[in-house]
Parts: sequence; C-alpha cells; structure tokens
Amino acid sequence: MTGASRGIGRAIALKMAEQGADVVICDIDLENAKAVAREAETVGRQSEAVRADVSSEREVDEMVGRVLGRFGRIDILVNNAGVVSTGPVNEITMEVWQRTLAINLTGVFLCTRAIFPAMKKQGDGRIINIASAAGKRGGGMHGSSCYAATKGGVIAFTKAIAREGGPHGVRVNAIAPALIETEMIASLTPERREKLVESIPLRRVGKVEEVAAAACFLASDASSFMTGEIMDVDGGLIMD
Ligand code: NAD
Repeated sequence: MTGASRGIGRAIALKMAEQGADVVICDIDLENAKAVAREAETVGRQSEAVRADVSSEREVDEMVGRVLGRFGRIDILVNNAGVVSTGPVNEITMEVWQRTLAINLTGVFLCTRAIFPAMKKQGDGRIINIASAAGKRGGGMHGSSCYAATKGGVIAFTKAIAREGGPHGVRVNAIAPALIETEMIASLTPERREKLVESIPLRRVGKVEEVAAAACFLASDASSFMTGEIMDVDGGLIMD
C-alpha cells in the first residue's frame, strides 16, 4: 500500500487490516507510516512501515524484496501515492511536470513491475490503482493538465496491465475519486470548494472511508469477475 501514512491510503490500509489483511505501509513519511502500522496491528494483523519513494527504482525494488522476504507473497498492491499540481499549462515548470509524472505515473509502473512476477507465480493477485476523475475528464476540478495527464496515464496503464494479468489470475482495477476530504484538497479556497461541491450531484465532499470501501470491494472475491474497470467514487460527478 503506497502513500499510506495519511489520507486515502491510510483509510484503505486500516480498512483492509480490519477485514483480515496484513498490511505494509509504504510512504516517504516514515514516522506517520509507523503510526498507521501500529494502528493496523491493534486489529490483530501483522504490519510493517517501510520508507520508500515510489519514484525511485532502487527504493521500490528494495521494498518489494523486503516485503516478499518477510511475508513470502503479496496478494494485493494498492498504488495510491500521489501528488497534485495546479495552475495553467504555461505556468507548469519542467521540474513540476517531471516530479508529478515520476510519482503519479512512474511510481505506479515501478511498483507494478516489481510485484507483478510474484503475483503471476502465485496465479493470483489484485492491483488497485488510485487514479482520479481528473484523468477521465481532463482535470477541471482540482489539479492541472499535468496532474490530469498522469491520472489519464494511470487509467490506460490499468487497462493494459489488466490484459496482461488476466490470463495469470491477476486482476487490475482503478478507482477514480473526486474531491475527497484529505490534506490534498486543503489548499482550496472556501469559494472554490463550494463551487466544486455544486458540480457534484450528491452536493458534498467525499470521505476517505468511501474510497476505502471501493478498494476493499475490488480487493475481495466479491469483484472476482472484474478487471480493467475504472470505478468512479465521485458523488456522481462523472456519469458515462
Ligand atoms: P494525501 O496528500 O493526503 O496523501 C498522499 C500520500 O502519498 C502522503 O502520505 C504522501 O506522503 C505520500 N507520497 C507522496 N509522494 C510520495 C512518494 N514519492 N513515495 C511514496 N509516498 C508518497 O493525498 P490523498 O488525497 O490521500 O491522495 C491519495 C491518492 O488519491 C493520490 O494518488 C491522489 O492523486 C488521489 N486522489 C485524491 C483525491 C482527493 O480529492 N483527495 C481525488 C482524486 C484522486
């Protein structure tokens, strides 16, 4: 579980632990990751916090080696770590473009590449990528064209890996949330936030638990015939 020291990732990790999974909390913020791992242990599961930057090939490969060494297998990968970038295209610097791409898209690739062989060997695995409504509608809510492009990439990558994984029993799905109450949307002004809420049919901001519920469904056998699906958790923002 990447980016799991807070926000959506933390909620997914704790919900999965509650439902019986041992969880590895990967984040660049080791202190908070350790706190989440301790919380996961209170429901009787094994948990480990690992500091790894998902955009680093070396750190991702080392983390996966360490996790396989301890647990012997990986049943579920949740690619959740992400950063938002905002602003019009003419204001996006190369540095911001490359960093956003490296974390949001290359990070998903690196973690998938590192874990996929083990899942194939197991003949079973579930990969859940946290995309965004921005990747479907081209931004327009919170985040720039750069952010939207990374999430659009995650959606295409999800479908491509679903095709590769299907014959090996590896199911790959994504969740496309919109406007979920986390630190990621904390920088919105009250006016902007109100305007965004008005564009959502359910007229409210979503809760991390609502994304966690969708992730648990996609990780469970209840979704056993689903792969390559992009599930909207967005209060009805996108209907297609
Ligand atoms: P958040 O900022 O609260 O959490 C992101 C987590 O990722 C943090 O713990 C952070 O430390 C970690 N992280 C950042 N860079 C990392 C890296 N290089 N390596 C490892 N970990 C790293 O954000 P959130 O709202 O919980 O977002 C989680 C995911 O959901 C992101 O992919 C985001 O794009 C997506 N999302 C969020 C919303 C929303 O409205 N909050 C909407 C759509 C999609």
